[in-house]
Amino acid sequence: MEWTEREILIVDMWNAGKTCSEIGRAVKKATIFVENKLAFMRRRGVFVEVRVKPRPPSSRNKKPAADKAHEIKKRKCLRCAKLFLSEWKGNRLCVNCKGSKDFSSVLSVY
Ligand SMILES: [Zn+2]
Repeated sequence: MEWTEREILIVDMWNAGKTCSEIGRAVKKATIFVENKLAFMRRRGVFVEVRVKPRPPSSRNKKPAADKAHEIKKRKCLRCAKLFLSEWKGNRLCVNCKGSKDFSSVLSVY
């Protein structure tokens, strides 16, 4: 298939991120002409689309399954009995209590 200058321009502008109406104005054609042209070229497989599309951030960032000892879950703080997000089984003190002065005295409970 021979490409006319207009077709090349349409594809170039499309790949540069222009809209069909912008391209239409540039080639002095109706928006629908540009849309049809692009659709036709896509169907014919002569139009390699390199236009960059923004991708939604991947939601597949799941960590591999942690073993039970390192299961992150809400646990009751041994000192103040509040629920807190504990990073592992042995982590039984909330941040507040860990940071408190008598942390060492709590440790002796174990
Ligand atoms: Zn606590």
